[in-house]
Amino acid sequence: MIHEFYEREKPVPPEDYVRVDHVLLKNYVTSIFEKLGVRRWEAEIVADVLVTADLFGISSHGVQRTRRYVDGIKTENIDIYSEPKIIVDRGAIAIIDACNGLGQPVSVKAMELAIEKARNYGVSLVLVRNSNHFGIAGYYSLKAVEKGYIGVTMTNSVNLVAYTHTIDRIIGTNPIAIGVPKREPPPILFDAATSVVPVGKIEIYSKQGKEIPPGWAIDSNGNVLYGNASYVLKMIKAKKAALLPLGGLGEKHGGHKGSGLSFIIDIVSGVLSGAAWGVHVGYTVGEKPSNVGHAFMAIDISAFMSIEEFYNRLQQYIDEIKSARKHSKADRIWIPGEKAWYTMMTRKKIGIPLHKNVYNELINIGIDVGVELELKTL
Ligand code: NDP
Repeated sequence: MIHEFYEREKPVPPEDYVRVDHVLLKNYVTSIFEKLGVRRWEAEIVADVLVTADLFGISSHGVQRTRRYVDGIKTENIDIYSEPKIIVDRGAIAIIDACNGLGQPVSVKAMELAIEKARNYGVSLVLVRNSNHFGIAGYYSLKAVEKGYIGVTMTNSVNLVAYTHTIDRIIGTNPIAIGVPKREPPPILFDAATSVVPVGKIEIYSKQGKEIPPGWAIDSNGNVLYGNASYVLKMIKAKKAALLPLGGLGEKHGGHKGSGLSFIIDIVSGVLSGAAWGVHVGYTVGEKPSNVGHAFMAIDISAFMSIEEFYNRLQQYIDEIKSARKHSKADRIWIPGEKAWYTMMTRKKIGIPLHKNVYNELINIGIDVGVELELKTL
């Protein structure tokens, strides 16, 4: 049984962190985007995706990413005034052109459409082209789970990763998130980058003044790069370093499987959707629109078997994993989605810990754009 007060990514040392109520934080971030001219409902979705990441304990994709979207909007690399268009709508499939708008609102709409189609056809696939970075993939899969469907979300992203046996950045950190409803929460949510770590992890380590271990990145000569996170981030920003695919360098620990997964995710999200792929995907702030591609699938469980039967079979599987012999060095056996869920329950009660550097950055953005709300700490 998991105790009530679980929190991953504990704020250590505590004096470097402040805690902020999640509702206030969401309102504050919403206000930042609204001040920049983003429509209220869209600003709310962007803020909700960011704050949900922090609630889940995924600070790499939490409010520390606000600056990136703000800069993308300010430089007009993201078009906040555009309206997405459905350009293909046929049976169980659709393609949406996001028209270079924010990635989060169009992704919510795309998953809603995927759910509606799965209701009629049992399964669906909705692709999005001309989009921007959408944050945590799991957010959209959980939208399907809330309605009782299995949700699958994939996206490509800017090229930061060296494909196995290459040195330069040729593929993205392209995540996949699969959410599965259970009889009782937490739902299953497997949501992972196809690189060893997403770049957001190095960004947050840099803000926290941490070191990164060997195995996450290589330099432009192919040597393993590690140590001071700010230095590694500087190298990545200068395009002098690449992240490694899931499984790491070479084939020894399965780097080819991470590369392969990333490649396939990009074939569906990028090549098939009509978006950019690999090296052609742009960054949120840059000289060209990102043209990110996403893919959303919903699966209606009741088209395959009764929901009750599915829940029973699933629970048996989970119980079998949970009752397996535990490694002596492990504290607990986890099902994907549990750490995120319990961290969220805890943080809804005691607030979200923000590193002081992240908090101060938010305050400065707020001052800069004229937010009136005060981001009080708990
Ligand atoms: P993590 O490595 O933190 O987690 C990957 C998955 O493994 C999660 O579903 C997690 O569930 C699960 N998990 C963790 N520990 C265990 C365990 N011991 N046993 C079983 N399952 C476990 O994710 P990443 O750092 O790779 O990705 C973080 C986020 O970054 C994701 O939300 C991803 O979508 C996002 N991302 C977005 C990109 C974009 O371009 N938009 C690019 C790359 C990443 P739990 O959360 O419950 O621990």
